Amino acid sequence: MDFALAPETDDLRRRVRAFVESEIMPLEADPASFDDHENIKTDLLEPLRAKAKQAGLWAPQMPKARGGLGLSVAAMAACYEEMGRSIFGPVVFNAAAPDDGTMIALEKIATEAQKARWLQPIVDGEVRSAFAMTEPAPGAGSDPGLMRSRAERRGNAWVLNGHKWFITGAGVAEHFIIVARTSDDTRKGLTAFLVHRETPGLTIKRRIPIMGPEEHGGHCEVLMEDLQVPDDDRLMEVGDGLKVTQIRLGTARLTHCMRWLGMAKRAMEIARPHVAERESFGQTLAEHEGVQWLLGEAAMAIEIGRLLTMRAAVKLDGGDFARKEISMAKIQVSETLHKAVDTAIQLLGARGYSKDTPLEWMYRYARQARLVDGASEVHKMVLARAFLNEGLDFWDWA
Ligand SMILES: Cc1cc2nc3c(=O)[nH]c(=O)nc-3n(C[C@H](O)[C@H](O)[C@H](O)COP(=O)(O)OP(=O)(O)OC[C@H]3O[C@@H](n4cnc5c(N)ncnc54)[C@H](O)[C@@H]3O)c2cc1C
Repeated sequence: MDFALAPETDDLRRRVRAFVESEIMPLEADPASFDDHENIKTDLLEPLRAKAKQAGLWAPQMPKARGGLGLSVAAMAACYEEMGRSIFGPVVFNAAAPDDGTMIALEKIATEAQKARWLQPIVDGEVRSAFAMTEPAPGAGSDPGLMRSRAERRGNAWVLNGHKWFITGAGVAEHFIIVARTSDDTRKGLTAFLVHRETPGLTIKRRIPIMGPEEHGGHCEVLMEDLQVPDDDRLMEVGDGLKVTQIRLGTARLTHCMRWLGMAKRAMEIARPHVAERESFGQTLAEHEGVQWLLGEAAMAIEIGRLLTMRAAVKLDGGDFARKEISMAKIQVSETLHKAVDTAIQLLGARGYSKDTPLEWMYRYARQARLVDGASEVHKMVLARAFLNEGLDFWDWA
């Protein structure tokens, strides 16, 4: 069991780190770089994306033939962590949600014709995407089996009606993956479709105001009213919607973990010089045992998250779905992100609560991590089911 990175992966990781430090972090420190929703302004983003492409750091998750870097999931883990160190980082490299997950899924499951039309423009950075599954209650949320949006077949097309919400990126997305019910079969009742934003019947009802900073395009409520989709734009087979959702969310959950680990490390990085210099009661903060416990616990939690994330990544690279490994990583890392940022805010004292550092941005952002792509409780349910089913084999070394 070798935990060292391959030399070429480590070289790439260092190049990402250097790019983040020299090109992105200075912008993050300037309030003028932020748009109205606390993300990087698009006019600053586009030249940075061009630079990342030129530097050979673009679309790490995509094959080289598509203009990506062709990285394994394990190599992505090392590089995404470096990207996540800046709050503007992942989107600069075309490695941010939701496009990252959309691209990975389409590369795996779309037909060649669908890839040319729907995937390649996202890889090239020409369009943005969104994945629409969640619905207002009593529709699909943690339980996709509650889906109420329907797709009815009419000749060679489908007609979609329904209501989705919290659809990340929908405000700017041109390419949507929409999941709808095509029958009442409990396992094979859902089907996924590729839909262009301009299709009549697709309406963005509103951008939902949220607690934290937003991805470009926000989190939107989306209506489908007699939305016509040609059968050619169906993803996989009729009844495979749940499979598409699992494939779409599987690796995407893990790439979230990779980026969040970078953010958690950044929080610790911000706290480090402060605790080394700031004095209280005759000692630096770092010399107080109480402070050491806080730092030690957060540092250890990050390392546990990295190990779980890397184990899941290696399993995915081996062709496994890594369901329980991804669930464990998702719970651990989402909760660790919150813990690390909270620790850093606490140790910075009043300044931690200010907007003079990115910590308060991270703190508000971190709260969503325990909800998106499956709430922690739902992932614990998945783990409990696996344990009840597998017994001692839950902890095998395979
Ligand atoms: C910022 C943000 C971005 C999002 N982006 C997208 C997107 O791009 N596309 C998309 O389709 N959706 C998106 N979502 C929706 C997200 O996937 C859902 O919020 C999530 O799946 C939970 O569904 P729900 O909100 O309906 O909560 P519910 O299903 O109503 O669950 C509410 C709570 O109940 C508890 N719970 C539920 N089931 C169980 C259980 N079995 N055991 C124990 N406790 C349980 C959990 O604490 C859970 O948080 C986003 C959400 C947020 C906040």
